[in-house]
Amino acid sequence: MTEMTRVSTDIDYDKNGKQHGHLSVPNSRDNSGWGTLLMPITVIKNGEGPTLLLSGGNHGDEYEGPVALMKLIRALDPSEIKGKIIVIPGLNYPAFLAGKRLSPIDGKNMNRIFPGKYDGTISEVIAHYVYHYVLPQIDACYDLHSGGYSMFMVPSAMCHYLEDKDLMARHIEALKAFRAPMMLIAEELDVAGMLDTAVEEMGKVFIGTELGGGAILTPESVKVAETGIRNVLKHFGMMEGEPVTPTWRGQTEAKLYEIPDLGYFCQAKADGLYEPFYEIGDWVEEGAPVGQIHFPQSPEHDAMVVAPKKGGRIWCRRAPGMVEKGDAVAVLAIESEK
Ligand code: CA
Repeated sequence: MTEMTRVSTDIDYDKNGKQHGHLSVPNSRDNSGWGTLLMPITVIKNGEGPTLLLSGGNHGDEYEGPVALMKLIRALDPSEIKGKIIVIPGLNYPAFLAGKRLSPIDGKNMNRIFPGKYDGTISEVIAHYVYHYVLPQIDACYDLHSGGYSMFMVPSAMCHYLEDKDLMARHIEALKAFRAPMMLIAEELDVAGMLDTAVEEMGKVFIGTELGGGAILTPESVKVAETGIRNVLKHFGMMEGEPVTPTWRGQTEAKLYEIPDLGYFCQAKADGLYEPFYEIGDWVEEGAPVGQIHFPQSPEHDAMVVAPKKGGRIWCRRAPGMVEKGDAVAVLAIESEK
């Protein structure tokens, strides 16, 4: 039996050509009794071939993905591809419109509520539709995240360590295909309810990105997103042409890294003002501090040094100066032989 959904759409997923349409999500509220959230979705299909989901705005303050996807759907002619791409530039659409990580309607983190709920809040209803109606169609998903308000990241693509060896091998190939300045296989801090996990558990390929951050855009990070998406279409045999490696801060190589365990994550152990000692992309030796926390209410106190357990390359660092105890301030990665 087909799963019930409260979402409807004007898109015909089987039709060839380019369709710009909407997912209609009930959103009854004080000033709009039969109000509907009309989320943009584009499907571009040309005959047989793989089906990819390209999504952005899973967190609403991460902009490279949405910009690259909006440019892609305007520019791409169906004749340029084989197969089908389903593009949702703003997956947590209310959060995307508000420029917030979480939905302003129900406060939900879209990437912690999969597989969603038929009778849940608006974010859960969207997740439930994507889980039951979009994911069954696809071979792979590229969910384009960035650092958001709280982090600066080396523009990167990433996947998780997976137990299934064949699925892991397909993930590594799909990961390398993106050709970001850093491509990571990572241990994740918290996987429950992620879109990543939902796709992986269906035995399909899930690649995420982290492209910039600080809730801003840069020309280079947008270029990494745009180039990466087209590289991926070439990898899956959906588009003609050779892959291209974008340049980032003078780096012209795309390299594979790993975050083998949580020892590469550095957290603030106190509230205060965080002073980073390194920029993203820099290398830190084992035992060396990555920064220190000052105490504005007690400036005479020594700053608290933050040192990761392991050395490596700084993949990301905290963007805003003020930190609370428990905030991530840096994550490091090491080069991979895989
Ligand atoms: Ca994110």
